[in-house]
Amino acid sequence: MIASRVRDISTSLIRRMFEIVERAKREGKEIINLSIGEPDFDTPLEIVEKAYEYMKKGYTHYTSNFGIDELRVAIAERYGVDKDNVMVTTGGSEALLNASLAFIEEGSDVVIPSPNFLSYFTYAKLCKGRILEVPTHPTFELDLDRLNEVMSKNVSVIFLNYPNNPTGVVLDGKTLKGVVEIARDYNAIVVSDEIYDQIYYDKKPVSLSGEENVVVVNGFSKSLAMTGWRIGFVIAEKDLLDEMLKIHQVNGVCAPAFAQKAVADVLSSGEAEKLTRKMVEEFRRRRDLVYSKLKKVFDVVKPEGAFYIFPNVGKDCDEFCEGLLMSKGVCVTPGKAFGSGNDRYVRISFATSMENLKVAMERIEEYARENS
Ligand code: PMP
Repeated sequence: MIASRVRDISTSLIRRMFEIVERAKREGKEIINLSIGEPDFDTPLEIVEKAYEYMKKGYTHYTSNFGIDELRVAIAERYGVDKDNVMVTTGGSEALLNASLAFIEEGSDVVIPSPNFLSYFTYAKLCKGRILEVPTHPTFELDLDRLNEVMSKNVSVIFLNYPNNPTGVVLDGKTLKGVVEIARDYNAIVVSDEIYDQIYYDKKPVSLSGEENVVVVNGFSKSLAMTGWRIGFVIAEKDLLDEMLKIHQVNGVCAPAFAQKAVADVLSSGEAEKLTRKMVEEFRRRRDLVYSKLKKVFDVVKPEGAFYIFPNVGKDCDEFCEGLLMSKGVCVTPGKAFGSGNDRYVRISFATSMENLKVAMERIEEYARENS
């Protein structure tokens, strides 16, 4: 009864994590959760109030499948593209599914640098693609020679995500353009998930918007702390957008009208950048604390963007995560959730208060020393 496309998709890791957390809670442990994949800040009140006003004005219906014009124009201006190259989606996730269904031919190869956001593996499986991982350890920078080794005419899609979840690595523009050239040589499409592009600490991430053969996926879940509002977008050539529209019109259909209007306002007024900057400054303080603590006990790459850090803990990640949770009450994500070759890594999210992070870092340091 179950379609083969979903049979290979496992939810066991999430379930296992959930069970372990529940067990720890039952034992009366107070848990500091560092496994969270969204900003801990609430959506800025300006946006909430605007959205409420627009709701009262009747922005509660369908919008064009492409999204409200004002929002498309504001996004196009930010990325220096034409509004006709922008389509608003119900979050970045819907955009990723639309792109996957439109461009991953059954039986084709899907290239995913490892470690990476778990969902790319799921999209590839749903579309019955064959996953080819390109290891990026230990620097987590994508090496073009390694990429070339797996390329062939059978590759349909290459997934990129910079700033990266789970490593925080930002790839330089030259390497990114190198990937696009390689993809073009093989007639493959690059899906560049730039959802963390506004959350960076050192070098500013380069966007691949405007490049041929590239579908840029982005949204406001992270940069404006709006995960529950479901507003994402894609930027691509018109002919690629038209193919994704065929999926979008039956999938996400449109993002909530009032939310699109509220975001359009803060983007075009320049308010959005200020709101993001405030949040990023807090993330930067946390990044500095977490990195300075973890580097004393683990091999770790300093994150340049997003709000994750991915240390090599030098032992099996499941054992580490379970031990840390049960003995110290700190919950982190096992690295193997992010692809092959990550069994000795864990992902730590710093999307929680400085207070929590200070305590958690002490406990992690203690745990590492006790178990080394
Ligand atoms: N891409 C990456 C790399 C992410 O980390 C996430 C959220 N965890 C998403 C996409 C999905 O974002 P959205 O809430 O816009 O669907």
